[in-house]
Amino acid sequence: MSGAEAAVVTKFSDLTFEQKLDRLAEVAVKIGLGLRTGQELVMSAPIEALPLVRRITEHAYKAGALLVTTLYSDDPCVLARYEYGPDASFDFAPTWLQDGIAAAFKSGAARLAIAGANPALLAKQDPAKVARTNVAMSKASKPAMELITRHEINWTIVACATPEWAKLVFPGEAEDIAVAKLWDAIFVASRIAVDDPVAEWKEHGARLKQRVDLLNAKRFSALHFNSADGATDLRVGLADDHLWAGGGTTAGNGVYCQPNIPTEECFTTPHKDRVDGIVRASKPLSHQGTLIENIAVRFEGGKIVEATATAGEDVLNRLISTDDGARRLGEVALVPHSSPIAQSGVLFWNTLFDENAASHIALGQAYSTCLIGGEKMDADALSALGANSSLIHVDWMIGSGLMDVDGIAADGTTEALMRHGEWV
Ligand code: ZN
Ligand code: ZN
Repeated sequence: MSGAEAAVVTKFSDLTFEQKLDRLAEVAVKIGLGLRTGQELVMSAPIEALPLVRRITEHAYKAGALLVTTLYSDDPCVLARYEYGPDASFDFAPTWLQDGIAAAFKSGAARLAIAGANPALLAKQDPAKVARTNVAMSKASKPAMELITRHEINWTIVACATPEWAKLVFPGEAEDIAVAKLWDAIFVASRIAVDDPVAEWKEHGARLKQRVDLLNAKRFSALHFNSADGATDLRVGLADDHLWAGGGTTAGNGVYCQPNIPTEECFTTPHKDRVDGIVRASKPLSHQGTLIENIAVRFEGGKIVEATATAGEDVLNRLISTDDGARRLGEVALVPHSSPIAQSGVLFWNTLFDENAASHIALGQAYSTCLIGGEKMDADALSALGANSSLIHVDWMIGSGLMDVDGIAADGTTEALMRHGEWV
């Protein structure tokens, strides 16, 4: 859009697709990243996202970006590795590239990831090879990922509708219809489908912040999740000195950013040794290309002691066997059932969206930013407060219109937080 066009307020429904895409790009740069003049930007994207990448790149340079560098991925090339690559390939990751990305972050670069890969891409591949590949990649990317999980830099994730993903979300539709439907769902879920998305995001961020401040003032020692169908009865102890977070955050480099677009959650760090009871997933989990359905687990003393799923159970078992921390919780998050993503009724098969449709828990690594002073603590200090550590961080949905949540104070008194999936 030219400056003259941008000055005219146009109803979202009157916009062309290119203009809608441009609004998503604008929100990604201005709200998601809060990109600063003179900042470098490192972007990762599926090759199908090129039109969105071009729009984001334009907005980034308009915002004063020093240099925009995009790393593309391509699903058929990923599959070629599984089909023709030597066995040694699955324990290998490009450490040189990940070290370079970490170096870019350390020298001030922001990071933007575009989600859109086919969630079922690796469903038919050997789960052992998939798991080995993930472990190798997790190890290689640890220096870069640590800067992200510690919020040292400003970063964000946005989504791009791609044909394979769209066909999974809208089975039975012709490809072009499915892609159009997925784009519409992404625009609505990402709060782009309004007349002034930048203003909408500022208000939404303020509302989330209010909720977070309220939860932080309560200093609960645990949460109790109880579903009306009896499938979940789970007590999640919270880490000592836990902090609730949600919406925007000021990164270590001083830049205010919204790390996920969309985002509807208030989340904090559970205590890795104080989780007990049973819990059943309320939505399927798409993990690295495999769909895991009807996850049901039992926790004892923080650790999963029993885990089942009606599909993808072997992938689930491999996942929780990654390391000791993979059987324990690193995040607990509250999301109302009235969130636009839950209300759309669309199952996105993508954590970025589905985790904002329901309250959820995550196995694995905790966010040190969800502890008072956590970003400056070493691993031992974090662990002493109850923060979990692992190579994985995998969110899965447990909330629904059936879920009640209580906050439990240190003296054992309880307070209703959610009833039938809604904030009290
Ligand atoms: Zn979450
Ligand atoms: Zn998470």
